[in-house]
Amino acid sequence: LNPKPSRLSVDMERTFIAVKPDGVQRGLIGEIIKRFETRGFKLVASKFMKASEDFMKTHYLDLKDMPFYAGLCKYMSSGPVFAMVWEGQNIVKLVRMMLGETNPADSKPGSIRGDLCINIGRNIIHGSDTLENAKREVGLWFKAEEFVEWTPCAQPFLYE
Ligand code: GDP
Ligand code: MG
Repeated sequence: LNPKPSRLSVDMERTFIAVKPDGVQRGLIGEIIKRFETRGFKLVASKFMKASEDFMKTHYLDLKDMPFYAGLCKYMSSGPVFAMVWEGQNIVKLVRMMLGETNPADSKPGSIRGDLCINIGRNIIHGSDTLENAKREVGLWFKAEEFVEWTPCAQPFLYE
């Protein structure tokens, strides 16, 4: 469905990342993009959009039995989000490490949540938690024609 990750000597993965409505309102889109850019990951798709509540219910379907599910989906559709797909070696795991813990209170300084937010219900960013979920979320949020094919000039300096 989606264009294949770039062909390199290493296995490339793609992951879905979104700046949540609180991150957008707080003016953190640039700061968040900067972290992934400077890490060396490659941006392959992005859009600024408002998601519907039903769409967020599908996105968070695995949490449907949690007490915070309804509020979470309402909140995630209350304002614009910045949705992105990034590519890199081992990116799903590395991005989760960069996010910190789900609860910002448990997130170490240096992580995105540990540096930029306080409360579990306002933790500013989403990142896919497994490769399987990354594939599902990338396919849910982006159409094939929304991906940009390009070769960053830094690639030989990031990968052996
Ligand atoms: P994530 O993968 O780290 O984002 O965490 P989960 O997939 O477990 O949960 C999805 C989102 O639901 C989190 O990022 C939080 O915004 C929210 N959430 C998770 N646990 C709680 C909770 O105990 N209370 C509230 N209010 N929100 C929660
Ligand atoms: Mg999750």
